[in-house]
Amino acid sequence: MTDFAATKAMFHLPEGVLYLDGNSLGPLPKAAAGGVQRMLSDEWGQMLITGWNKAGWMGLPTGLGDRIGRLIGAEAGAVVVGDTLSIKVYQAVASALEHNSKRKVVLSDNGNFPSDLYMADGLLRSLGAEYELRVVDPENVADALTEEIAVLMLTEVDYRTGRKHDMKALTQMAHANGVVTVWDLAHSAGAIPVDLAGCNADFAVGCTYKYLNGGPGAPAFVYVAPRLAPNVRPALSGWLGHEAPFNFDLDYRPGAGIERMRVGTPPVIQMTALSAAMDVWDMADIAEVRAKSIELTEMFIDQVETSCPDLELASPRDPEQRGSQISFRFHEGYAAMQALIARGVIGDFRAPNIMRFGFTPLYIDENDVIQAADILADIMTNKLWDTPEYKTRQRVT
Ligand SMILES: *Cc1c(COP(=O)(O)O)cnc(C)c1O
Repeated sequence: MTDFAATKAMFHLPEGVLYLDGNSLGPLPKAAAGGVQRMLSDEWGQMLITGWNKAGWMGLPTGLGDRIGRLIGAEAGAVVVGDTLSIKVYQAVASALEHNSKRKVVLSDNGNFPSDLYMADGLLRSLGAEYELRVVDPENVADALTEEIAVLMLTEVDYRTGRKHDMKALTQMAHANGVVTVWDLAHSAGAIPVDLAGCNADFAVGCTYKYLNGGPGAPAFVYVAPRLAPNVRPALSGWLGHEAPFNFDLDYRPGAGIERMRVGTPPVIQMTALSAAMDVWDMADIAEVRAKSIELTEMFIDQVETSCPDLELASPRDPEQRGSQISFRFHEGYAAMQALIARGVIGDFRAPNIMRFGFTPLYIDENDVIQAADILADIMTNKLWDTPEYKTRQRVT
């Protein structure tokens, strides 16, 4: 059984703050500061360059990959960590396209996170005019899976509303039509159980600073199914994905399996912080995290719908159809979120009118949810958002 009081105690949560934004940036695991400090002084400080071997820095990308792999149903040795998610999207889509080289169309949906669409579009423009990015409504993805499509690139959980695609069914349908899949797990990893192997997924990517709590700028991960990895050509063929980087050969030969999806030197300091975050995940059962998340989100919806008639639920009502976030539409959503943040309830706002709240059972409990909903009710009932100070948009919303 996951001891949620114990996991909550592993995080630094500032006094007076109810943090409902772990879907954007997870909080600081208490052990991260000491872990990074030790890495700096004992490893970098004392070992200098010998740390790559002595402290095992070179093994961090695959070691962390396997620890994340446990949460997303990946086979051992199928996940590697490095770079940002946007880069990993590019890398996965490029390899997937090449795997299906007779076809020229990448299919996605308009609920996808823009960076994924931008990266795919940039890649396709480099490849040539015969390539196309086709973007449809989320509910029309299945019908658009024709024999023209090379790659289906989807984010499993919609960043705005939390709506969840059926990964198993869509992957099966894609394969039946000869389509290779790339799943983005940015809002899935650490939020809901994912079964990449069981879904027969091809490629997957995700970030580690949201539900996984790796810290701002923590590196992303990429998964390649072991049945595909030996035949995947990495488009970003950096030296650390080479079969023998320290031979310094002039020709590129991809490394074994997932190793080939490495690019350059890993960010060791950031990976040390991520290791501390994964220590907390080692205490958790993701199925229990999911069950608790459903309880918390159901409580929040009930309480908000009872006390805030001006807010309209934007997330699916059926918990099985959504991830671990709840969104409400409100025409002054930005101002209302600023008013909430001023009262210590941190969520975020996504244009044009979405107030978004993330539920993260590792460190958010029933009491937090009740208090947050009470404060929201006060702000809505008394229109505390209706002041010019809350209506001026900042750079990051
Ligand atoms: C958060 C998120 C990103 C962000 O990409 P970075 O390169 O890490 O900034 C990309 N795609 C999706 C689906 C996301 O949710």
